[in-house]
Amino acid sequence: MRIFENLESEVRGYIRSFPTIFRTAKGAILTDEQDEEYIDFFAGAGTLNYGHNNDYVQEALIDYLKSDGIVHGLDMATTAKKEFIQTFQDTILKPRNLEYKLQFTGPTGTNAVETALKLARLVKGRSNIVAFTNGYHGLSQGSLAVTGNNEYRDESYISRTNATFMPFDGYFGDMNTLKYFRKFIEDGSSGVDLPAAVILETIQGEGGINVASKEWLQELESICKEFDILIIIDDIQVGNGRSGEFFSFEFAGITPDIVTLSKSIGGGLPMALLLFKADLDQWKPGEHTGTFRGNNLAFVASRVTLENYWQNDDLTNAVFYKENILKNRLEKIAKKYEDEYTIVVRGRGLAYGFEVKNDKSIAGQISEYAFKENLICETCGSDGQVVKFLPPLTISEDLLVEGLDRFETAIEKLFLDKKQKLSEEF
Ligand SMILES: *Cc1c(COP(=O)(O)O)cnc(C)c1O
Repeated sequence: MRIFENLESEVRGYIRSFPTIFRTAKGAILTDEQDEEYIDFFAGAGTLNYGHNNDYVQEALIDYLKSDGIVHGLDMATTAKKEFIQTFQDTILKPRNLEYKLQFTGPTGTNAVETALKLARLVKGRSNIVAFTNGYHGLSQGSLAVTGNNEYRDESYISRTNATFMPFDGYFGDMNTLKYFRKFIEDGSSGVDLPAAVILETIQGEGGINVASKEWLQELESICKEFDILIIIDDIQVGNGRSGEFFSFEFAGITPDIVTLSKSIGGGLPMALLLFKADLDQWKPGEHTGTFRGNNLAFVASRVTLENYWQNDDLTNAVFYKENILKNRLEKIAKKYEDEYTIVVRGRGLAYGFEVKNDKSIAGQISEYAFKENLICETCGSDGQVVKFLPPLTISEDLLVEGLDRFETAIEKLFLDKKQKLSEEF
């Protein structure tokens, strides 16, 4: 580890939570240089929905490279891109009756978010964007302005104007937070400028696995229609099947004006994609550009994941099946400790959070103890108070259960150690 400590910037993040050197990975297993195997319940923060080195992806990439397929092509037409667009249209958009234009942005999520904000402002001729408490949309300047997370906001001494925050679903407990939003929009003198768009995640991935309800999303859509505001759904983390269905908003029956996709859309490779309704396509040719908008390897990887996982409902059904296992087990663990800890379990699909309400430091400690049990799970939430579960969607039932066993062992050991420490102090 010394080489990282000596030569890599202090900005290092996940390496500190999981301090070992990983060498290989397959499916839901990561292997380090000492041949220790870890079960991966983090999956690259939702980038590896189809697992590490997915067989279909691996094979397709090797064949493509060996055939001298185009690797870099700016945004020129290539066979790989043509085939991706056709497959995305046939397997994802058409069956859902979604008519979207596609825009390829630079290959990271924040590129897609920046593009979405720019397009919304351009089309509506308004500068304000409404974002929601605890939302996370990336860390470049425009995306940061609509990101709530204080840890990231604190470090950035830049102008973060043209964004207004409104309370997300559940922010005030049972209160309907959209009443508040509506009032501010209705009242021309509320001080909140009519926004070009709202931007939100249906399940806040970094913000603590806060889940918006179907009713809330539907009401938000109707308010936005009434006041001519665009809806941008940031599906970067919880799209691509994470919620069970391909898009996280499908269950609510809403149709966002703009959708951002990244993380798992490239089958594990860098890729970002913007979807928007055709009437919003008001770009001039080349008006929004970028060198790496055509990661052809990602087009190939993405196409084979669509072909192999999205031609039928098998993956969706598997996610719901595994969700039951995950949810029931987490709830059982929460119940086991209910006398000492108030634990809330929430999520959708294979995105779950385990929040210890009465001690915000515990989630981080659980994650550390889990690592000692060879389980990778990260924390999220404004104070890192939520343990987050994002296993690959393709994880086997056995490994999922084995990972949950390790999680339970980690908690047992942590709470035992805590008791021991307490008794030593008195
Ligand atoms: C990860 C993430 C982003 C930013 O993606 P990067 O590739 O890290 O720039 C934006 N929005 C959401 C919801 C994310 O989870």
